[in-house]
Amino acid sequence: MRLSRYFLPTLKEAPSDAQIVSHQLMLRAGMIKQEAAGIYAWLPLGLRVLNRIEQVVREEQEKAGAVELLMPTLQLADLWRESGRYDAYGPEMLRITDRHERELLYGPTNEEMVTDIFRSFVKSYKSLPLNLFHIQWKFRDERRPRFGVMRGREFLMKDAYSFDLDEASARTAYNRMFVAYLNTFARLGLKAVPMRADTGPIGGDLSHEFIVLAETGESEVFCDRKLVEMAAPGHDFDPATVQAVFDERTALYAATEEMHDAAQFEAQTAEADRLSARGIEVGHIFYFGTKYSEPMKARVAGPDGVDTNVHMGSYGVGVSRLLGAIIEASHDEAGIIWPDSVAPFDVVVINLRVSDPAVCEACEAAVAALEAAGKTVLYDDTDERPGGKFATADLIGIPWQLTIGPKGVAEGVVELKRRATGEKSTVALDQALEAIG
Ligand code: ATP
Ligand code: MG
Ligand code: MG
Ligand code: MG
Repeated sequence: MRLSRYFLPTLKEAPSDAQIVSHQLMLRAGMIKQEAAGIYAWLPLGLRVLNRIEQVVREEQEKAGAVELLMPTLQLADLWRESGRYDAYGPEMLRITDRHERELLYGPTNEEMVTDIFRSFVKSYKSLPLNLFHIQWKFRDERRPRFGVMRGREFLMKDAYSFDLDEASARTAYNRMFVAYLNTFARLGLKAVPMRADTGPIGGDLSHEFIVLAETGESEVFCDRKLVEMAAPGHDFDPATVQAVFDERTALYAATEEMHDAAQFEAQTAEADRLSARGIEVGHIFYFGTKYSEPMKARVAGPDGVDTNVHMGSYGVGVSRLLGAIIEASHDEAGIIWPDSVAPFDVVVINLRVSDPAVCEACEAAVAALEAAGKTVLYDDTDERPGGKFATADLIGIPWQLTIGPKGVAEGVVELKRRATGEKSTVALDQALEAIG
């Protein structure tokens, strides 16, 4: 992608109403534009990162056995009357009336709709276990939308829903998602800690929030320090293995403010391991049994021929919120530092003299070689001065910067910089390609 033909409206300074660093950097890097309170347009650079995060989330869901579908954003109010949530949900729900006076709503979540899909088609225990997920825009009329995409009103969520014949297998489904979430957040370069959580309006008795520690987080959290450094569990989804992962992590204390028990924290955790901090909720999983299947009559015939209500769980990831969380966790004074797994481009090639045909030729050869090696490349072919180009490259956080100027062309070398460490080397193009991998 040639920067001269791209759309990257960077800003010198962040607007004063952007209070936290991730929001400031997303605006300065030309990733988003606010269209209304809590409602954003995704500009090309922001969209590339959003798509990559979405893809990591999708792949990890599929590895855990979940199956993707896509449900609409608009839902019938009558469906929500069946579960009793239409009146219970309150002012966070955006209610809409169509030309036939039919009541609709913009979905804040999808338990009712997915239960309706399930009951329409699944009649036997032989189809279970089943886990259906989608990645779709949600709307919640938040009282205080703020911090950019972190607390939007329109936001992108991955939500999965599991269906099982009984509580024991539903708990296995829960454990699979527990493991999938640990793998997902690790791939995104985040240290997310599962914490016992309140089940809120969705109800149920087993629930964990996945929290990324950050000073700007909206939740107050308490946990054993050892949980923060634990490695991702990997992709063995055998019931005994996922139970063991769940047991290992939940044996250590970790709770959000609503569930915090100071006495238990002290009894269970050595003083040196007690961490009280602030955190960002990036995921949330629930087991809620027959809360929806009972009123909505989602039943299957069991092995004995008797109909039973299915046991369900739901599993959310804040896909758009994750951009903010990743930036909060990974930036410096110069800008964003994207983890390789979600970077909008793998490499930025910086042309230091666009008026020099030999430099242009060398840059174009480098871009071609990188693309042939499967890398995504942003080619800075603008006539901006070098200082400005370096500042933009640092600001937008591309993991590798490859700089070519007249001196390098004369000597047959390029300059390679790793954004995360600032480490620079002057090497032949082949060596640079090898380092980038
Ligand atoms: P919060 O406590 O931040 O209001 P929630 O508990 O209401 O979130 P859930 O119903 O658990 O949210 O939704 C699943 C996930 O969707 C959350 O863990 C979070 O990552 C994301 N999410 C929820 N609300 C928003 C929002 N307003 N903007 C962006 N992401 C959100
Ligand atoms: Mg909320
Ligand atoms: Mg919450
Ligand atoms: Mg939640």
